[in-house]
Amino acid sequence: MYYNNNTLLYLDGKFVKANESKIDLYSQTLHYGYGVFEGIRAYATDEGTKVFKAKEHYERLKKSCELVNIPFNSSVKELVDATYELLQKNNLTDAYVRPLVFCDPNMSLHRPNNVSIMICAWEWGAYLGDKQLRLTVSSYCRPHPRSIKIEAKVCGHYVNSILATTEAKDKGFDEALLLDSDGFLAEGPGANLFFEKEGVLYTPQLGNILPGITRATVLELAEKLGIKVVEGLFQPESLWNADSAFYCGTAAEVIGIESVDDKKFPKDWNDSLGKKIQEEYLQLVREIKTAPNTKY
Ligand code: PMP
Repeated sequence: MYYNNNTLLYLDGKFVKANESKIDLYSQTLHYGYGVFEGIRAYATDEGTKVFKAKEHYERLKKSCELVNIPFNSSVKELVDATYELLQKNNLTDAYVRPLVFCDPNMSLHRPNNVSIMICAWEWGAYLGDKQLRLTVSSYCRPHPRSIKIEAKVCGHYVNSILATTEAKDKGFDEALLLDSDGFLAEGPGANLFFEKEGVLYTPQLGNILPGITRATVLELAEKLGIKVVEGLFQPESLWNADSAFYCGTAAEVIGIESVDDKKFPKDWNDSLGKKIQEEYLQLVREIKTAPNTKY
């Protein structure tokens, strides 16, 4: 599904066959989840394949490494160039790109001396599908920011996400919604949350969530469209009383939320602010020019 006999991946400056690449079984990343990664999308545009916000993603990768003391030995530019070359070598245009910084063999709990970086890519449809989501509030909360570096995209943090998604799916829902450890609205297992009330968008403030690059893009699009956005700490009740809501993330893109614990949002998705943002987002990533200053 992710690779075949011909697939190449980037490993420490070289392009190597995916099916011949290995990881040392004594890596700290494998045992302790101590590694960092990114999720990036490339899109076909009229001017060829474009990696959306490539620089921002590799800068976040670098920052994630710095935050958790993992050495980062590459330059952002080198990795952006390597990504384009990787896509070209694998004949990929619309693709998902996954860089991973992983540690050398080391069974201690001390920071590593040496790491490797790999980048792989594959064709991947919208991660959460294209139908509106039925969410359930998770029994798991997002990790406390004093327990981990919540703004870093660290491999081990995703056990929390896997537990939450698995619980939600086992209960018959599409995806989970996680609160923070104080009970405020936080985010999805792999996406940020926005909701609409009386013509204004609301989104949880930074601090207890991953600062999503798509979230930042949605803030930019809302500004362009003249939509007011309020960032803050919100009780779950504010979502129960919202008109509409959506998740956003690189893999999920912008996706409407139909209901939370079977309570449906009253506004038709097609009439919602989320739908307008979704359309703008898909045009932006594909570099389709829109009329300037279209206000809603
Ligand atoms: N929150 C979490 C927990 C995530 O894993 C992701 C996906 N990286 C997001 C939010 C959205 O981030 P981005 O828009 O940068 O993909």
